Amino acid sequence: MPYQVRPNLFISNINDAAQILQNSADQHHITHILSVLSSASISFFTEWRSVISIPVKEISKLHVSDLPFAAKSALSPDKLLYSLEYAGQDLNLVRMAVPLKDTESENLLDYLEVCIDFIDRSRKEGGVLVHCFAGVSRSASVITAYLMRNENLSLEDALESLKVSCEFVCPNDGFLEQLKMFEEMGFKVDHSSPVYKRFRLKVLGENHFAGSRIDSSKLGADPGMPVETSSEPQEATKVDNNRSPTYRCKKCRRIVALQEHVVDHIPGEGEASFDWHKRRSGNPFNKSNESECSSIFIEPLRWMKDVEEGALEGKLSCTHCDARLGYFNWSGIQCSCGSWITPAFQLHQSRVDISPV
Ligand SMILES: [Zn+2]
Ligand SMILES: [Zn+2]
Repeated sequence: MPYQVRPNLFISNINDAAQILQNSADQHHITHILSVLSSASISFFTEWRSVISIPVKEISKLHVSDLPFAAKSALSPDKLLYSLEYAGQDLNLVRMAVPLKDTESENLLDYLEVCIDFIDRSRKEGGVLVHCFAGVSRSASVITAYLMRNENLSLEDALESLKVSCEFVCPNDGFLEQLKMFEEMGFKVDHSSPVYKRFRLKVLGENHFAGSRIDSSKLGADPGMPVETSSEPQEATKVDNNRSPTYRCKKCRRIVALQEHVVDHIPGEGEASFDWHKRRSGNPFNKSNESECSSIFIEPLRWMKDVEEGALEGKLSCTHCDARLGYFNWSGIQCSCGSWITPAFQLHQSRVDISPV
C-alpha cells in the first residue's frame, strides 16, 4: 500500500509501484509515477520479478548534455537525466524514471530539479507516486526536497513531516548531506553558489580517485582564450567580464580565472580544519591578520595541462609566460587561514592581479 504524504502525493516501494503499473486502476487515483531506481529502464521491473509485464511507450529521454547548464553540472554530459514514458496496461500512466543508486556518494543534487518539477506538475493533474526499491532512502530524499521547497521547510522539519506519513523513511547520510546543501542554497540547486561549487569539486575528486579520466570536458573553459569553441553560452561570461573581478597573471597579464571560477571557503573553517586552529580563531569577528588567506582556490580549468594529464599534484604555471601561479593537489591543500580545501586548485594571491579592484 502506498503511503499518502500530502493530497495527490504518495510514497512506496517497488512492489506497490509494480502493482499499480500492472493493474492501472487503483483506489488512490495515481496518474503519475516517479521511479527512482538504479536503472531507468522499465525492464528493471521484469528483471526483479519475472512474471511482470508492463507495456510502455516512450515519450522522451533527456541527457545532461541537453541542458544549458550541462557544463556546470557535477554529472557527466552523457549521463541520462531522465526518461519519460506512458506505462501501465492501458498506457494511461505517465512515468518518469531517474537513474539513481542508493549509495552515499551518488549525486542526488543534480536530479532534484527535474524530480521536483515532475512532482509539482503531476500533482496538479492527478495523483503522483514517488517510489524507489525499498521506499526508504531515495524516494524519501526526493519527497523531502519537494516538501522543503514547496512548504518552505528546513531539512529537519520536512523529514519530520514525512515521517508522520511513513515512519520508516531514512535517507542515506550522503543524501542528507546533499539535502542540507539544498537548504543552504535556498531550496534550489544553484550552480553559481559556493556550496554547489564545492560539491562539484568533491564529485570530481571522487571520480579522479575512482580512476576515471578527468578530460577537458570536465574542466572549465579557459577564460584566457579569446574565442572558445565550446557549447557553453559565452554571452554570460562576457557580461561578467565587465563587472566582476578578473584574475590575471602578474607577470604577463594573461587572464587565468574569472570570479565565477572562484570556489570560496570560510577562513579557518571547513570539513577538515585542524582543531588547534578552530580554538585559536573561535570568534569569527576577532580574527588576527595571520589567518588571512594567501590563496585563491578555483575550479580546474582547461589551461591546467598537468591536471588534464592526470597528475595527482603539481605546479600551476601560466600558459603564456610560464610563471608559477600556484599549485594543485587532488588530496587537498591547506590555506594559510587553516582551512583544508579538497581537491585544491590554488593561485597565490601574490602571483595574480585582480582587476578591476
Ligand atoms: Zn583561506
Ligand atoms: Zn603569465
